[in-house]
Amino acid sequence: MLSQELLMDCPFCEKAKVKVRHKPSVISKKRSVTATMGSRYNYHQSKEVYEVLEDCPNCGKTKEEIKKRLIEGKPMDREAVLKRMREMGLDPAKVRL
Ligand SMILES: [Zn+2]
Repeated sequence: MLSQELLMDCPFCEKAKVKVRHKPSVISKKRSVTATMGSRYNYHQSKEVYEVLEDCPNCGKTKEEIKKRLIEGKPMDREAVLKRMREMGLDPAKVRL
């Protein structure tokens, strides 16, 4: 399966598009023959891969940051978490998120 390039909204600022190469997950079927069970099929599913090709031109997030965000899927809002921690009297600098 070929990967395709697409433009995705920057997951941080959502105001700019960044070029992403997306390789969809592929399920491949492999026939295997065993002595006891005859022939059967094994399935293998590859991971889908995102490769971010450029930094965000708007907020300046790097390719790596954007990629990480994309892989995490729906991420928690880091700012909201930090605010919450402060409200709870925790020092975010001392806590590993
Ligand atoms: Zn951005």
